[in-house]
Amino acid sequence: MKRTIEKVFRGAPEHWVGDGFHVSNYFPAATDFEKRMSPFFLLDYQKPTMFGATERRRGVGTHPHRGFETVTIAFEGAVAHRDSAGNGGVIRPGEVQWMTAGAGILHNEYHEEAFAKAGGILHMLQIWVNLPRKDKLAAPAYQALTDGAIKSVPLAGGTGVVRVISGTYEGMQGPARTFTPAHMFDLRLEAGAKVRLPTPKDYNTALLVLTGSVKTNGSAAVTAGESVLFENDGDEVFVEAGESSTVMFLSGAPIDEPLVHYGPFLMNSVDEINQAVEDFNEGKFGSLGG
Ligand code: MN
Repeated sequence: MKRTIEKVFRGAPEHWVGDGFHVSNYFPAATDFEKRMSPFFLLDYQKPTMFGATERRRGVGTHPHRGFETVTIAFEGAVAHRDSAGNGGVIRPGEVQWMTAGAGILHNEYHEEAFAKAGGILHMLQIWVNLPRKDKLAAPAYQALTDGAIKSVPLAGGTGVVRVISGTYEGMQGPARTFTPAHMFDLRLEAGAKVRLPTPKDYNTALLVLTGSVKTNGSAAVTAGESVLFENDGDEVFVEAGESSTVMFLSGAPIDEPLVHYGPFLMNSVDEINQAVEDFNEGKFGSLGG
């Protein structure tokens, strides 16, 4: 059964993260979203944005995270990353970085050096995926999902592909290891493409149109920068592309636990937040060295 549309919305006015990422927040900033999209807690989206050539290191300097995972997806441009677990790398178009902050990590995120020097368009998004209580203090981990590792399921008539980042679509398992069930699909659609996305009724589900224009579950045209939140009243989402379009689809099993958010920390209680601040101040999140 087809899900009803709960609302179509745009993100909050753009704000700078450091001096490198000019993002619009789709949740939790939008009203009552703190748990509405659980296990996904936050979505920051940078629409295609031109950055001039610079020798400057644009981005966000070393900062901590605890209690969740950050998923960074590049569509254009290149983002360099380094963390206190000793991992580092560059996220290029089509690639995904799935970082488990878990017990605690320090990292920084910058425009990749050659990209910054040449200038160009940066188009990316970052999603925070909450961790359940039993995994909040999991060992920090890092999954660099290359373009090739993310398998594409072709649509009928060669009208596009569903790139399966996590979860399963048409029997294709995404490469990302997740702690709780979460479908994250990157839809690359040509005009006329029709996709059926089955997903359990209790999974919180939304999509974000990055480029182009689509119709979904009886909606009017939903255009670039618009997000659709679905009611939990059915198990199917249909997407039909009116033109060449890119769509991010998110659907996951809610984590039904208390949630306390403070800056870069996402825990179950105020005490755990206080502990995170204390541990960070005492240097227990390690260091980036070098
Ligand atoms: Mn970060």
